[in-house]
Amino acid sequence: MKKRTRVLAIGLDSADFDLIWQLQACGDLPNIQALLGRGVWGRVQSPPGLGDDGVWASFSFAAQPGRHGRYFWQGFVPGSLEMKRSPELAPDIEPFWATLSAEGYNVGVIDVPKSPLAELPHGMQVADWLVHGRDGKTRSYPPHLASMLTERFGHDVTDDYESGEFLCCEEALPAAKQEPFLQALLQSLESKKQGSLELYTLGEWDLFLTVFKECHCIGHEFWHSVNADHERHHECLNTTIPDPVRHVYRKLDAAIGELVKQADDNTAVMIFSGLGMHANYTAEHCLDDILLRLEKAMPPPLLEKIRALPQLTGCAEFSAERLMIQIPHNEMSGAIKLNIAQPNGGVSGEQSTTVEQWYQWLEKALLALVNPNNGQAIVKQVIRSDQCFWGDRRNMLPDVFVVWQRSASINAVASDEVGVLNSTPPVFRSGNHIADGFYMMAGSMIDARGQGQTVSIADLGPTIAALLGSKAHFTDGQSMFKVHNPLSVTPV
Ligand SMILES: [Zn+2]
Ligand SMILES: [Zn+2]
Repeated sequence: MKKRTRVLAIGLDSADFDLIWQLQACGDLPNIQALLGRGVWGRVQSPPGLGDDGVWASFSFAAQPGRHGRYFWQGFVPGSLEMKRSPELAPDIEPFWATLSAEGYNVGVIDVPKSPLAELPHGMQVADWLVHGRDGKTRSYPPHLASMLTERFGHDVTDDYESGEFLCCEEALPAAKQEPFLQALLQSLESKKQGSLELYTLGEWDLFLTVFKECHCIGHEFWHSVNADHERHHECLNTTIPDPVRHVYRKLDAAIGELVKQADDNTAVMIFSGLGMHANYTAEHCLDDILLRLEKAMPPPLLEKIRALPQLTGCAEFSAERLMIQIPHNEMSGAIKLNIAQPNGGVSGEQSTTVEQWYQWLEKALLALVNPNNGQAIVKQVIRSDQCFWGDRRNMLPDVFVVWQRSASINAVASDEVGVLNSTPPVFRSGNHIADGFYMMAGSMIDARGQGQTVSIADLGPTIAALLGSKAHFTDGQSMFKVHNPLSVTPV
């Protein structure tokens, strides 16, 4: 018997919109195609320069990164370069589903990545069961659900928190592990579908939200197989299924079909992703060498003024008088920390003019970098956290993100300041995140069809709240719909 559910939201972690569009257009994703035919869809903007950690945190907290402070699986203790795992630095914000639960809505939430487990007055949550890059062990509220799921369906294999084996790491997957990796993903997809269907039957949900990780993992490791322009496209795969990426997308579409079948016409269905996937060309491997050379090329008057600024303290990484260093991040964009006790009030007056000159000089120097082998710029965009993000946790973010041009692999870098720097990259995983995802929504209460507005990832939670008629306020996100009474919605 069908259960009454008001909003059914299915996240496809890092599913690429262009690939989904191609596949549905040729009839390969019939369930997504049907949703597109009866609903509204649009692009979801991700925070510039950030990968899945920042995106999922922005989704869960309905907040932009300067408020939640999460940019990677590890992060900075404010005002220092000491790093801790991100869950130890969690912001004092509750995820949007906890706000809804406190309002009296019955919520069921499964595996939203990079997100805290909330104690819910109404409903349930499972965290870090089958998730790419888990924050911790599988846990749930109420607690018995986690053991029920792992006893019935097993633990995550590809991103194994307990053993430390993490097959989705930066290096390319060895050939011998490709088939087991693919089979493990197909198994986790099936487990997530079955587990979600079982938990779905436990209640009548105002919101039922489940997230599949498989597009994320298969995209990292096999993107070269699906992208004909990829430099590694000719490599043979050691898998029994010849086209694993499309195969996983088709399987996810079938899982969506089974979940959506549980809902009725009054259920608002949302399918979404916060990021896409693209060839993993990067200058991650030589960014710190670039910064070293840039420090040496800095005009002496600017250098003198920078040396007089208040510096970060207690940072071993800066002990050799470094002014700016590369800090850990997903290789989709280089992350830079400036050796200055800022932002947020660290400097003022003439010193802030010096900082501005520093930023402008650095931005220009980074944008001037080219790949001498093809003459193409290697930097697409320089993101300054002081300009793009706001909030009291902005100083937990890197100061600068360098977004790479991803049209060819980068094995040499040149500019007037840097000279020529030859640097052969290691064999990275072949795919990586690229900005922006998508949403698709359908249901009798949604009075919108076809292409809708572009929204921020932080807007999706508030949009779900609006679909429920919630009056809650969220940190940054805004609903994409106006709510009418009796309950129906139209685009803002
Ligand atoms: Zn990733
Ligand atoms: Zn993974």
